[in-house]
Amino acid sequence: MAEQVEHIKWVPNTRFMVDGFRFQSPRCKHYWLTHYHSDHTTGLTTTFSAGTIYCSAVTANLLVKDMRLNPSCIQPLPLNTPLLVDGIIVTLIDANHCPGAVLLLFKTPPPPGSEFSEQVILHTGDMRWHPRMGRHPALKNERIDMLFLDTTYASPKHIFPCQEDAIADIVKVMRQESKAHPDTLFIVGSYRIGKERAYLGAAKALGWKVHVNADKLRVLRLLGLPENDMALLTRDAAAARIHVSFMGKLLTPDALTERKRAGKWTHVVAFRPTGWSFQKSGLSCRREGDVAIYGVPYSEHSSFAELRDCVKTLRPRRIVPTVNASTPAASRALVDRFADLMDLSKDRSRLDFFLRKAKTAPSTLPVPMTTGEGRGSGSDLSSFNLCMLRLLLRSIGRGSGVALVHGAVLGSQTKRRQLSIGAFILKAPSSKQ
Ligand SMILES: [Zn+2]
Repeated sequence: MAEQVEHIKWVPNTRFMVDGFRFQSPRCKHYWLTHYHSDHTTGLTTTFSAGTIYCSAVTANLLVKDMRLNPSCIQPLPLNTPLLVDGIIVTLIDANHCPGAVLLLFKTPPPPGSEFSEQVILHTGDMRWHPRMGRHPALKNERIDMLFLDTTYASPKHIFPCQEDAIADIVKVMRQESKAHPDTLFIVGSYRIGKERAYLGAAKALGWKVHVNADKLRVLRLLGLPENDMALLTRDAAAARIHVSFMGKLLTPDALTERKRAGKWTHVVAFRPTGWSFQKSGLSCRREGDVAIYGVPYSEHSSFAELRDCVKTLRPRRIVPTVNASTPAASRALVDRFADLMDLSKDRSRLDFFLRKAKTAPSTLPVPMTTGEGRGSGSDLSSFNLCMLRLLLRSIGRGSGVALVHGAVLGSQTKRRQLSIGAFILKAPSSKQ
């Protein structure tokens, strides 16, 4: 659930907000919408007139034809095409989340006094990271200064499988249950948009039709889905083994029993496709009489491992968590889970991280030899430069001549030459520094 905190809605050094309609401001002229989920459109109403809304063509279609916004305030943009908006270069990239969801890559002019030529800011909105995204031409070899990251599942306990495996689990259960009880109705939960791959993927694998009600069909027609996917859909409830239903109240044992009574079915099996349902022991199943509800770890957000891969690939200098980050402490705790993969060479505020990491590191580390001021080659400790150490020494070693900084290490790339974590001794900076 996207955090409703104003400062993480602004794109630094621009007049842009991302998913920030609740915080409409005269300072903002350009509102960016990553996708059409309600926690990202919070504050957006049919009377919106505060500026221009930029989004993908699919999201624009939904805003106009589902939310009934005035088309004159919406600017649909193509994907994978650098565009100039208010002096900022912006590229929209598929976010692998729900239909129309995009990552937003902003290249802004350098802030006053910055040593960089430009600031590169990536906002993920909601995303399911895939390694192919790191190979996208707009991201490959790009230095990311700031990453606004979907941290929905930013905890090591969230290790759910890829979508293909989760869909295979659904198909397996459907086969087993229909073999035991041929007149079983299968219900797959969804949101207004989202989870399409779960029910369409299962239907494709089994050669079954999917029933949707008139409102759902109208929305699905706005998404630009492939024709062969749309051909799986039907309004005829009796003709479809799979029915799509909203998650929540409609997926309770009582509601499912009611569905069973209303049709020709002897059993009803429902699926809740969400990463929150992941458990190491396998799919969860709640069975009551002739109805069952399975929790399937089908997620449209990144697992923790995928988030780590994202950060490892992009090596951002800063991360701004956008979920579960309502306080500075919560935000910092989330960032700490990725700090070893970031490029912190310019971030003096994270000196504490390096020292803490060094203290808790194993007794030996295969880090590259670094002989000089802050040189390295991309290892975890490569960013540990003397600039940061000097900063620390100013505070703890001024006037002492020599300071002992526990934890830092010089090592070698070869196992034979690995050195133990120990002490790193260097001269304290002179008082002139
Ligand atoms: Zn979303």
